[in-house]
Amino acid sequence: MKLSELNLKNRRALVRVDFNVPLDQNFEVLDDTRIRRAIPTIKFLLDAGASVVLMSHLGRPEGPSREFSLAHVVSCLENLIGTTVKFASDCVGDDALEITQPLKSGEIVLLENLRFHEEEKAGDEFFAGQLAENGDVYINDAFGTAHRAHASTAVIARFFYENRAFGLLLQGEIEALSKVMTEPSRPLLAIIGGAKVSSKLAILENLVDKVDRLMIGGGMAYTFVLAQGGKVGNSLVEEDMVGRAEAILEKAAARGVEVYLPLDSVCADKFAADANVAVHATSEIPDGWMGLDIGPASSERFAKAVRSSKTVLWNGPMGVFEFEAFANGTFTVAAALRDATIDGAYTLVGGGDSVAAINAAGLADDVSYISTGGGAMLEYLEGSELPGIAAI
Ligand code: AMP
Repeated sequence: MKLSELNLKNRRALVRVDFNVPLDQNFEVLDDTRIRRAIPTIKFLLDAGASVVLMSHLGRPEGPSREFSLAHVVSCLENLIGTTVKFASDCVGDDALEITQPLKSGEIVLLENLRFHEEEKAGDEFFAGQLAENGDVYINDAFGTAHRAHASTAVIARFFYENRAFGLLLQGEIEALSKVMTEPSRPLLAIIGGAKVSSKLAILENLVDKVDRLMIGGGMAYTFVLAQGGKVGNSLVEEDMVGRAEAILEKAAARGVEVYLPLDSVCADKFAADANVAVHATSEIPDGWMGLDIGPASSERFAKAVRSSKTVLWNGPMGVFEFEAFANGTFTVAAALRDATIDGAYTLVGGGDSVAAINAAGLADDVSYISTGGGAMLEYLEGSELPGIAAI
């Protein structure tokens, strides 16, 4: 169900948002991106004559605490939306209902941190029912928690049969991901980088059945080079993952998927910004040296493949882009994504560090879509059904 299909006039719209934002020592919001991305849905609801009840988690509290109170985000939200926002000191019970029941069209209230109740993460049905009393319709706009079967993200939906919908942000995420995963223009290229091999193998195992081209960079790559019998020196490897890496390469070969691994690497003699640097063939890295970026020849080869693809999915940097000496591969690929986008390709970037990398490259506005939900996006790419999406 889409927002536009709901009857909203004079009804209380209970919206699960993701206001899990970083706070500084004075509890000021350090980065308001997540709050800003919720504004279109809130404005849509107000324009349609609804009142708005917002609920979210913040951090990982163990019971109620001032540190994790959502009261800290109220003034930031008020500034962004340009109107006053009420605050309920609990998300369920009389403290919430006293404010949410008499709410009038156009009014907004933010409920206190859902995770002050352990029932939220437990997906407790009674608690979900208590939350549901705060609204007449339910909207899920929190992609970042869509992979969790929590009370507010999934269980609650059963109290709103026919009165539930995706928010605009979540709708956009689903549409972006399905453009890549269900009806891509081809060639479809997936670029997977970063450091956590074990957490990304499931994605590669799913993607290898769907893509035309598979590019593996970052720390990930060395486990694959090892699987091919290369010598990777002191580069990052997860030896117990070599078998699965081998199986992915075999499957790719059987399907005719073009696999891109770095043929050369920018290597360092220690993991530091001021390390000594040398370029080596990725399969012949001397002991004592570690590959921290794809090499210049690989960067060019990768960029060329990006520019000739029609759909590109990018998750994970090509190297330790946080250090200038090892950022070139990531920035070259980012620039190629921009070029491909200009040429009409659909380019989707997602996962925490990839977003940081595209921001560092200054190209965040030059790709088709940036996905905000790190863990949720990864599970979607693994082919898992996300409880928060399935519930709607
Ligand atoms: P992930 O969270 O798995 O996407 O990993 C992102 C992190 O991987 C970034 O902080 C990078 O610095 C790091 N990274 C990328 N390439 C390498 C590499 N070759 N060796 C070690 N770490 C890397």
